[in-house]
Amino acid sequence: MKSEEFAASPNGQWSMLNAQYNRVVICAHVNPDGDAIGSSLALKHFLERKGKQATVVVPNIFPDFLKWLPGAESILVHTKQAEQIKPLIEAADLVIVCDLNQPNRLAGLEQDIMASKAPRILIDHHLDPDENFCQTIVSKPEMCATAEVICSLLSEWGELDNISFEEATCLYCAMMCDTGAFSFNSNRPVIYTYISHLLARGIDKDQIYRNVFWTASEARLRLQGFLLYVNMKVLHERHTAIITLTNAERRRFKVKNGDTEGIVNIPLQILGIRLSVFINEDTEHPGIMKLSLRSVGDFPCDQMASRFFDGGGHKNASGGKLKCSLEEAVEKVKAAIESYADMLK
Ligand code: 5GP
Ligand code: MN
Repeated sequence: MKSEEFAASPNGQWSMLNAQYNRVVICAHVNPDGDAIGSSLALKHFLERKGKQATVVVPNIFPDFLKWLPGAESILVHTKQAEQIKPLIEAADLVIVCDLNQPNRLAGLEQDIMASKAPRILIDHHLDPDENFCQTIVSKPEMCATAEVICSLLSEWGELDNISFEEATCLYCAMMCDTGAFSFNSNRPVIYTYISHLLARGIDKDQIYRNVFWTASEARLRLQGFLLYVNMKVLHERHTAIITLTNAERRRFKVKNGDTEGIVNIPLQILGIRLSVFINEDTEHPGIMKLSLRSVGDFPCDQMASRFFDGGGHKNASGGKLKCSLEEAVEKVKAAIESYADMLK
């Protein structure tokens, strides 16, 4: 099929389900979150139900609290299984890129994915997708999660009532994760129409909530106490909180990957706080500080992340990085906050 023909297929449906595509690779972004993993697995289950072979590959490991998701055990992780992943991508006849908007968010997978001759479909909800990334782009920034984009496609295709329990579980979990259990970015009524269809498939949303949010380790809870009591600095005049975490502190609290997930959200519980910034040493790249930003209301985290921290994301949830010491990173964050003093006073 010519690439123009491929690109012309409405919403990628025809291309995704076309008989000529049988070996599909689905990939998601680095440091995969609940939406990245849930959406990718939902697509895998959907395509398998349609008789295709589908494999999910991710750049690096994902949090333990997502390991219970149906199909999670089959996910290939590039930092561990690069040898296995490379031939799989080479042999793929279709690639679906899930929950990211630019190739560099694929980290270690970028090279293999971009070298593949297979056509690519992007399914995402981040702003400003890279136009040259994929032949078919299904980008819906107004949607709460990539999983909602998938629900909207399934709805258009008349598939919403045919989906399996596994597909529904993955889709619900993904939307729940990207909206903080429907506590932000989730006012659009249609979200709950989709959820009503998912519930009708028999999913246990209360169990899904507990699987994700109530499975903290003792280490996580003690780290949380330490970070809030000792490391959190509140800039009252700027309605902002900053939390830092060093690798030495990680070791002290025996912190595992995933134990820091969501900590950046906690300061937003303080009355009046509009912006929360979490700065932590990158465990895989010495000398790099990773940043997470969360805001309430109109404060544009994505703009701040792209202007100051070589990052991006969504209005209320973004990330980025700095190449410097933790102390310097704190100063750079404070300078960035000052440049938004008008919005934060
Ligand atoms: P988190 O704080 O959970 O790591 O990231 C929150 C959101 O910010 C992610 O869903 C992603 O959209 C975005 N994000 C995080 N890190 C980066 C980055 O380095 N670059 C870009 N463009 N976006 C990022
Ligand atoms: Mn997402």
